[in-house]
Amino acid sequence: MANIELQTIVKTFPNGTRAVDGVDLTIEDGEFIVLVGPSGCGKTTLLRCIAGLEEVTDGAIVIGGRDVTDVDAKRRDIAMVFQNYALYPHMTVRKNIAFGLKVRGTPRAEIAKRITETARLLGLEELMDRRPLALSGGQRQRVAMARAIARRPRVYLMDEPLSNLDAKLRVRVRADLARLHAQLGVTTVYVTHDQVEAMTLGQRAAVMNAGKIQQVDTPQALYWSPVNLFVAAFIGSPSMNLVEAHVADGSLRFAGFSLPLDELGADAAKLPQRVILGVRPEHFAEVEDGEAAAWSIEADVTVEENLGAEILVFFPIAAEPVETDDIVSIREGEEQEALLAQEARALFTARLPSGTRRFMGKKIRLALNPKRCYFFDPVTGESLVVRKAVDEPLPALA
Ligand code: ATP
Repeated sequence: MANIELQTIVKTFPNGTRAVDGVDLTIEDGEFIVLVGPSGCGKTTLLRCIAGLEEVTDGAIVIGGRDVTDVDAKRRDIAMVFQNYALYPHMTVRKNIAFGLKVRGTPRAEIAKRITETARLLGLEELMDRRPLALSGGQRQRVAMARAIARRPRVYLMDEPLSNLDAKLRVRVRADLARLHAQLGVTTVYVTHDQVEAMTLGQRAAVMNAGKIQQVDTPQALYWSPVNLFVAAFIGSPSMNLVEAHVADGSLRFAGFSLPLDELGADAAKLPQRVILGVRPEHFAEVEDGEAAAWSIEADVTVEENLGAEILVFFPIAAEPVETDDIVSIREGEEQEALLAQEARALFTARLPSGTRRFMGKKIRLALNPKRCYFFDPVTGESLVVRKAVDEPLPALA
């Protein structure tokens, strides 16, 4: 096993694209780390650099204390699992798994032992004599993983290995992966554009944008304490509601609402005149008639989505959507939001407990908890107020 040190990695392609732009990252021995970010942010290129499939333009890669920057891919002792797993169609599952070991000259008895172990680990025992065509997508993906695992490399690199699977299988194979990692403890770097995968799989996740790492931390810390607007908008589903707000006369103003700043306590002093306010959908709470709430807004619900355990309500607010370049690159992947968005107005989402009630077409009052609101610099995108993870339930609203 081995740790991986990425020292100021730069990768510029011949056409001038700087896909990786100065990445520094240390991956601990035995760690499962996820590289996550929107399409084109450079995560696959970074993974290919670690694998030795791309030459770095600048910087160094050290694996297990050995500088491998100029070492051939074959000699890095790494196994890769890709999104498009190429199994040999004419070989049985057993032979597919054995192939890599054979070409490396592993002794026959050792091959047999590893095949049996790996098949048990991945639940493939019943399928060993089948050919890939007679397997489901999920089974094929498990064979591809088995092939990588049987080799017992020091490092696994995985590039969107679940993206060809349907939603149900993804959940199953995701659980398999987590279990395998717990059992084998091999250093794993896993690339995905799916923030839910990053939240559920990684011990840590590195959020990338435009070739740079924005933040590396545990999924909880990324969710609760994003360092900037990009991370805040990328992590969390549905994503954080964002709106430009102004600070004037002791109030925070946006979309025709005016909220007293003193509710923010000492944090109020950290806010410049213009800020971007962020509210996670789950941090809204419905205010009953007659109930007091120091920070609340009116919502005209235009769409509702009842998900069973909870309900998502969508409502426009009288403000323009926040559209920095970063935010636009995230939103491009979210078809649903694009469909619902009304051109000039921002659409907010609140996540409420589900019941038999209908919200669509109704006006409701929603309270915001000032201690759960996020504030960002509209120019640099940096977080202006640091929020810490909370274990306890939300305090009662004032
Ligand atoms: P995706 O999730 O869509 O695969 P990604 O985050 O993995 O995206 P990369 O594939 O690493 O992104 O690409 C990063 C940038 O480098 C993109 O702008 C891409 O167009 C560019 N790029 C990738 N490979 C090459 C290449 N061989 N030549 C030129 N540009 C490339």
